[in-house]
Amino acid sequence: MIPYWEEELETLPRKKLEDLQADRLRNTIARAMQSEHYRKLYESKGISPDSIKSIEDIQKLPFTTKQDLRDNFPYGLLATPKKDCVRLHSSSGTTGTPTVIFHNQHDLDSWANLVARSLYSTGIRDTDVFQNMSGYGLFTGGLGFQYGIERLGALSIPAAAGNSIRQIKLMRDYGTTAAHAIPSYLGYLFEVFESEGLDPKKDTQLKHMIIGAEPHTDDTRKRIEELFGVKAFNSFGLSEMNGPGVAFECEHQTGLHVWEDAFVAEIVNPQTLEPVPDGEIGELVMTTLDRQSMPVIRYRTRDLTRFIPVKCPCGRTHRMIDRITGRSDDMFIIKGCNVFPMQIEGVLMKIPEVGNDYRITLETINKNDIISVEVEMKKGTFKGDLEELNKLARRITHDIRDEILVKPEVKLVENNSLPKSAGKAVRVFDNRIKS
Ligand code: AMP
Ligand code: ZN
Repeated sequence: MIPYWEEELETLPRKKLEDLQADRLRNTIARAMQSEHYRKLYESKGISPDSIKSIEDIQKLPFTTKQDLRDNFPYGLLATPKKDCVRLHSSSGTTGTPTVIFHNQHDLDSWANLVARSLYSTGIRDTDVFQNMSGYGLFTGGLGFQYGIERLGALSIPAAAGNSIRQIKLMRDYGTTAAHAIPSYLGYLFEVFESEGLDPKKDTQLKHMIIGAEPHTDDTRKRIEELFGVKAFNSFGLSEMNGPGVAFECEHQTGLHVWEDAFVAEIVNPQTLEPVPDGEIGELVMTTLDRQSMPVIRYRTRDLTRFIPVKCPCGRTHRMIDRITGRSDDMFIIKGCNVFPMQIEGVLMKIPEVGNDYRITLETINKNDIISVEVEMKKGTFKGDLEELNKLARRITHDIRDEILVKPEVKLVENNSLPKSAGKAVRVFDNRIKS
């Protein structure tokens, strides 16, 4: 027998899984209608739990957007009395009204189970020592992983983000075998290992790395695997759906299984809002099925992905999504071409001389919009050999132009010289003069 964490639930035949979803969706609607927002909305449209006969009927329900969460800030989507809630997580709100999600004890238990199942599916066990290098606090990557690791029974090290020398010391002192971090931080952490004269492959016992919270390419993953001598697993989540533990790669790394007993995932065309055929890229729309305090139904994530229409060798029946190619609001238009930052990362991470960080700046010079890309080099690349550096800059310029159809200005910079952000990487700076 394959020891799945919740084997029965994770290998349910599709029909049974979809019946379970429909059941839970009816409950979710009933609960959501205890909140001011969904009660008004659903009553005005004649929607009730009985509107759902099968899971496809979810398409009859209106979408929820980030704006709805903001308009109802803070308590308008709360479906249980405030006194039953035991925690909230909130976005930082630096760009306007924050959004907030409330949890009761059931919600936190359910979330911890999902994270534990996710970690288990990658091969992590209660014998592992798990170092969580994620920001703790309102950001869900801290506490979200913490309770999941504990639920799985592994030894947790709540290291939190930053302080790289201490991270390395913790890893070495306690024999860390598994860790979680955002991918952009790991490139930097590797450089700190190097500057300490250490090699994570030889000087740590790391085997599993969980990476997520920001878009990254498959080549970035491969780099992390090579630099640290680990298998790296993609973890997807968003605060509106709890946080981590929404979709996760299992040990086969064939795609990210969405935990469909706890969420409904749909992928729609962002213009028409109609479902796209399996395998086609569109916007991910998510619904909570097991959250009591604050159900969120048909939430438009803005994340772009596709369903991977294959069966995973692990035997789980929960559908897989592909890695996020970007967010619809990440895209920028330059000289009439639509560009996603991940296209540029895709080019850069294929080039062995390129280091682990880069920065894209858009500006207007002489009424002309230009895109420049600063690219960190690997340590010691072409020390002082100007001709080789120019050759490399020309190659990068050419490869990026091939990908995005616009010629960038490429500037090669020293290893580890670009400013680092404390949390998720900020890679695009749009300083154009808007006419
Ligand atoms: P937050 O709610 O602040 O944790 O941000 C959630 C957002 O982070 C998602 O909507 C995605 O845009 C992004 N994100 C989270 N995990 C991943 C991942 N594994 N790959 C790409 N983007 C991710
Ligand atoms: Zn699988």
